[in-house]
Amino acid sequence: MSYLANNYNRKKISFKFGRGSYLFSDDKKKYLDFVQGIAVNSLGHSHPKLVQTIKIQSQKLWHVSNAFQIPEGEKLAQKLCNNTFADYVIFQNSGAEATEAAVKVARRYFYSIGKPNKNRILCIKNSFHGRTLAAIFASGSKKMTEGFGPKIAGFDHFKFGNHSSLKKKINKNTAAIMVETIMGEGGIKVIPNWCLKELRKLCNKKKILLILDEVQCGVARSGDFFAFEKSKVKPDIVPIAKGIGGGFPIGAVLMNKKVATGMTPGSHGSTFGGNPLAMSVGNTVMDIVTKKIFLKNVKTSSKYFFENLNKIKVKYPRIIKEIRGKGLLIGIQLYKDPTRFIKKLMDNKLLTIRAAENVIRILPPLNVKKKEIDFALKIIRKVCEDLR
Ligand SMILES: *Cc1c(COP(=O)(O)O)cnc(C)c1O
Repeated sequence: MSYLANNYNRKKISFKFGRGSYLFSDDKKKYLDFVQGIAVNSLGHSHPKLVQTIKIQSQKLWHVSNAFQIPEGEKLAQKLCNNTFADYVIFQNSGAEATEAAVKVARRYFYSIGKPNKNRILCIKNSFHGRTLAAIFASGSKKMTEGFGPKIAGFDHFKFGNHSSLKKKINKNTAAIMVETIMGEGGIKVIPNWCLKELRKLCNKKKILLILDEVQCGVARSGDFFAFEKSKVKPDIVPIAKGIGGGFPIGAVLMNKKVATGMTPGSHGSTFGGNPLAMSVGNTVMDIVTKKIFLKNVKTSSKYFFENLNKIKVKYPRIIKEIRGKGLLIGIQLYKDPTRFIKKLMDNKLLTIRAAENVIRILPPLNVKKKEIDFALKIIRKVCEDLR
């Protein structure tokens, strides 16, 4: 029996250790891990540079309060700002905290300019922003909010792709539009660049803020540091988390100068957020993933993966409906429920994870090797063949 509460439907497997793209189970089997903790282990398991960073920093200093200067955090914030639209950063420990902090920054900005009634956040129906109370009501998903009332007020919703509804839902109390640049849990749905541009224009016209949740698609996952980069759009606020710690829990909210003015001393805080141990790991991840050659390799791997997945789709048109995503955030949409497919992939030693809309999510480490992609493709082909 387990003393863990039953809020997860866990697979009956556990792992002893991980190396790069591979996980080794307690029963001594080797799995190709294309879940990587759901886009968290951006550099795979036990990356030597991250191991070294943790070793060195853990012998120096783990944690001090944010009441004191934390140079490692200053350094990471500077790197994040130098590489992105952002002027300022607040560190957290997780994605949900980062998205909530994003909402707080937006509301506080309007409060600070004397418009406290501008506090509503407009989100996509059935999106995903985390599991805290505010975040589940931001997502507007029935499944996630069921039994967790009373409803947290302040969130409005429009349907993905329904532009006229989006425009109609903006009113004088709207503070911000908050969307995932690529919907992860929602089924790897990419907001196209032209839409991002229109969103920015709309926000400018209505004098509201644009929050792009890059908790899953950010930190080089898309092939650029941020998934919105190619659109040339500059958001006001961007929460990040998953990939930035390479497996160590880190969240952050990035913001421009304008909105940062609301965040005065005492307005927000976190006991653990931004501690020296976490920040050291974040610095090492950042140094690696922002290298031009690293991002170029992500794009090359992505292109190769997508081309070959599309070939498989052409060969099995009655099983695979669509291959979608960007960079190494890849979705294989099936016509049917993917439970059996995912189970068979696992039986063949490839770990993947589902998302909404019958999508199988493929999330390799960003430094995945070509031969590992080939191995995954071989397994996917075999399962298609078995199931047709
Ligand atoms: C995972 C995720 C979150 C929540 O992150 P947690 O660390 O689980 O709290 C928020 N937004 C998006 C887009 C995510 O994918």
